[in-house]
Amino acid sequence: MGDLPVYRLRRDRYRRARGGNTRLIDIYCAPCNELLLVYQKDMPRGKLKRCYIDRIFYPERFSSLHNDPKVRGKDDLPPMSCGKCGALVGVPMLYAKHGEHRLAYGMLDGRFVKRNSTHAAAK
Ligand SMILES: [Zn+2]
Repeated sequence: MGDLPVYRLRRDRYRRARGGNTRLIDIYCAPCNELLLVYQKDMPRGKLKRCYIDRIFYPERFSSLHNDPKVRGKDDLPPMSCGKCGALVGVPMLYAKHGEHRLAYGMLDGRFVKRNSTHAAAK
């Protein structure tokens, strides 16, 4: 994983004051400990329920979905599974609430482990 680039936080319209910070986290497969995602998350505390596709930095097979014109709805998203052991970690979903409509993955409890990212640029 030392060959991963350093990622800078994205500024987007979803990033608003929710009483928390925004940071990058690394998400690992619980069964095999493979790095699954580098992800930008608001609110550092609490469970990770969803991963929005426009906040995924790594790997390319997931981070590219946001800019893929063929991806128009959740049915166009592949399931999120571990590239190493194949475990299913996230299920495609459309998050529609508070006027937001965002494609995301509903993260399956117990299938992943999250840690502070080692790939975040220094602030
Ligand atoms: Zn795995």
